[in-house]
Amino acid sequence: MSESNNTSFEAEEEELFEHIDNEDEQKINEFLDGKKQIWKYKSKDNDNSTPLHIAVYKKSYNITKKLIEYCKEYNSEGLKEFIDEKNNQETTAIHFASFKGSVKIIKLLVENGANIYAVTKRKLNIFHYASQGNKPTSLMYFYLNFYVFAKEKDPRIIQLLKDKDAGGSTPLHWAAYSNAEDILLYMIYLKIFENDQEREDFINQKDVQGYTALHLSVSSKSIRIVMKLLQSGANSEIKDKKGNDPLQLAINKKQKEIADVIRNNQNCQMCNMKAPVKQIKKSIKNIILVFSVQALVTFIIFAAVLPIAFRNDNADSNVYYHFIFIIYVFFLALFIMLYLALLIINPGIVQPNNLNRLKDLVDGDIELNKYCYECYREKSKDIKHCIICHKCYYGFDHHCFWINKCVAKNNYCVFLWFLVEAFLYLLIVLLISIFGIIHLIGGNDNNPYIYYFPLFTLRSDFLCDNRIYYYVLNISLILLDLFFIIPETLLLILHLHIYCTNYREKKNKMNTLCLKSGSTTVEAALMKSDENSLDSSGE
Ligand SMILES: [Zn+2]
Ligand SMILES: [Zn+2]
Repeated sequence: MSESNNTSFEAEEEELFEHIDNEDEQKINEFLDGKKQIWKYKSKDNDNSTPLHIAVYKKSYNITKKLIEYCKEYNSEGLKEFIDEKNNQETTAIHFASFKGSVKIIKLLVENGANIYAVTKRKLNIFHYASQGNKPTSLMYFYLNFYVFAKEKDPRIIQLLKDKDAGGSTPLHWAAYSNAEDILLYMIYLKIFENDQEREDFINQKDVQGYTALHLSVSSKSIRIVMKLLQSGANSEIKDKKGNDPLQLAINKKQKEIADVIRNNQNCQMCNMKAPVKQIKKSIKNIILVFSVQALVTFIIFAAVLPIAFRNDNADSNVYYHFIFIIYVFFLALFIMLYLALLIINPGIVQPNNLNRLKDLVDGDIELNKYCYECYREKSKDIKHCIICHKCYYGFDHHCFWINKCVAKNNYCVFLWFLVEAFLYLLIVLLISIFGIIHLIGGNDNNPYIYYFPLFTLRSDFLCDNRIYYYVLNISLILLDLFFIIPETLLLILHLHIYCTNYREKKNKMNTLCLKSGSTTVEAALMKSDENSLDSSGE
């Protein structure tokens, strides 16, 4: 080959790269004349990348298509090779397409025979690249096209998600490291895990340094990802090769807020007033607890407090005590009714997860960032996802542990009334037990309580013999009541405050309150939207 031929080849090569760089389709059309061997071109500036690499990287569908068609026409046997050509890092065009998240380009490459299982020198696959680019669309396209909607499901696609690169990092590690929250959530909640344990094992995998995704999210200082990982079952006690757990790493990196979030995960919060940042699974144990405490309180009231309060012989006081008794029973019944109502009412129309909603993704681009990562439903300002219920709700307010479900549009009002009711109920119990103590100290012996429960009639000699017993029960009731009434009052004030201010203020107030207290209810404590009516036909 003569020198002039060489020079002209290099000049051509350089010219095409320049046009692609400028995304100048017109010049490219003029340039491609059937004589140019573009499949031999390599960019000297970019790791020996081919024109196809650069066009895909530039996310230019038209140029990519043009180049592929040109190769098809003038070098059809070399097409497969052209599509899968590797650069110095052994990266192929499909890797770049996955990184950029353009489904149209991915589709074009796949239709022309691109090898989706290709790995680079560092053993990075399409999903490692999608993670680096935070592109859930790439992830979901491959998953839907080759697995969910495929005639023959290809298990290798699922394997790629778990495969490690040369540094032992899975695509999830890369997502955590790259601060790629969107793809991270899609990946964690993909329906590929048989059970929670399998998902947790996936989340807690270590790379060669012993880092888990949680370590890496601490390193990249992304507090939101740290929270999401903890809520999804990341283990904050796993140590890396140097013996550091994520908390120690956060302290070393002087990330105080992140360290607080991880500590909060390790310590239990009193009364679930502040939701700890940890994985919470639905459980009816709080409901059983509510009924047990309620039964205990009622028992003490009837067995030890009311008998003392009713011990007065004075007829006027009797009327007064009967009144207290009726009020107590009324509020007890109301408490139980409202609580049962909360357990029964559907909080807001629940959207079941349905991958069919994403069928369009296989045909073209949709912006997955606008979709819920688990229900695959388009997000809107009045719909929020609950990470504990794994469902989306209209007018989501927060997930309530005491009713084991979300408080959202449909039950928000009942919830508010319940808070008011519970406050009044606790107040009455407190007052009755304080009266009980007062009557234990002074007062005379006859007991009109016999009207209601003859069995509990107190005779003065009995009372004298068992005075300690009545003191203990009364005082424990006061303590039990205080234990609940203080957080309950705070909760009531907070919710009444939210209710009485308007939407925007609500949101801002909650954010500041929650940030101050370091709580995760930032998301939980969103507003109820007043103007949007329930509409389940939005599909
Ligand atoms: Zn959802
Ligand atoms: Zn929930």
